[in-house]
Amino acid sequence: VMRLSSALGRVKPSATIAVSQKARALKAAGVDVIGLGAGEPDFDTPDHIKQAAIEAIARGETKYTDVDGLPALKQAICAKFKRDNGLDYTPAQVNVSPGGKPVIYNAFAATLDAGDEVVIPTPYWVSYPEMAALCGATPVFAEAGVADGFKLKPETLDRAITARTRWVILNSPSNPTGAAYTAEDLKGLAEVLRAHPHVLILTDDMYEHIIYDGFQFATIAQVAPDLYERTLTMNGVSKAYAMTGWRIGYAAGPETLIKAMGKVMSQTTSNPCSVSQWASVAALNGPHDFLEARNAAFKTRRDAMLQKINAAPGLTAPTPEGAFYIFADCAGLIGKTSAGGMALSDDLAVCEALLTEAHVAVVPGTAFGAAPGFRLSYATDDAALEEAGQRILAFCQGAR
Ligand code: PLP
Repeated sequence: VMRLSSALGRVKPSATIAVSQKARALKAAGVDVIGLGAGEPDFDTPDHIKQAAIEAIARGETKYTDVDGLPALKQAICAKFKRDNGLDYTPAQVNVSPGGKPVIYNAFAATLDAGDEVVIPTPYWVSYPEMAALCGATPVFAEAGVADGFKLKPETLDRAITARTRWVILNSPSNPTGAAYTAEDLKGLAEVLRAHPHVLILTDDMYEHIIYDGFQFATIAQVAPDLYERTLTMNGVSKAYAMTGWRIGYAAGPETLIKAMGKVMSQTTSNPCSVSQWASVAALNGPHDFLEARNAAFKTRRDAMLQKINAAPGLTAPTPEGAFYIFADCAGLIGKTSAGGMALSDDLAVCEALLTEAHVAVVPGTAFGAAPGFRLSYATDDAALEEAGQRILAFCQGAR
């Protein structure tokens, strides 16, 4: 029989990918399923970015590049950090990996040993604990629940840090809640981190550009310059530029860490796709005016969906500051029975019943370490979203 590694035995498969696959299978079987499980914009990659990729292919930019990123892309990333975040980084402080996910994995692989701890606020993005576990470390969860606006409080962070803590992860705007830290919030967390000089900080700023209602994005190395030396500021092109399939993520931080991450890549993936790197140069250096219209569309969808969720008996959700997710608390449904006779014993059962009876696919809160609840993505077209909202509302009204 096939014996798998003990590290893999500690890892769960991605729940978000599982939901998408199940929804796709139902759709293929002819069921009219609306999938609100996936974490990607429904918009297309802007044309000027696609064009840059086509030109790169025509120029013959189809060979290996420097392992951790093309010089031109590293330059564009340094310029982005300066322009958007007021952060000074040199190209030697920049890593480019095949997606934001591999950036984090490479950082963990380069720094974590068995017994090390990684502090992860809950609800969390599904991959953080699993990537830490894959590297032999222990995830330590720090509750940032709905009562706190899904934001980690300084005292909660302080309680979670031990002598074994290697990393603290911050993610703002958050997947799965859309909650985002203000500069003031980050100053409070920085105060705690200042007292624990052995802790590295990973800030996942993937959704930086997807924010609403005039929210001012802030990132910790900018707000607390004294933490710059031990912060890895991570970002990517996947969400802002609708480039999920191109697989480019990046980060900037201490040169020693960046070198170590490059060493991991040199023996695993080698460089990210050369063509995608050139497309990313165009994305970062190019016009950003398309963001405004896209964010306006997201905001309209967010508000329409929130209104239905908060009108649905048994569901509540706060207004997210960013990203394209709503995290709904479904405590009011637990213990009831659906119209189709399914026992709603926990959020997994709620999501199963929603998919089976209402044909709407969402991801259970359990997958994000926060039950009972579910995450839905509103990055889908208005008509489908309107219909999904009606179905969720009717499902909740039908539960007894
Ligand atoms: N970080 C967060 C918070 C995300 O939501 C995602 C994607 O879902 C990623 C990182 C990974 O992005 P990528 O697709 O570039 O690997």
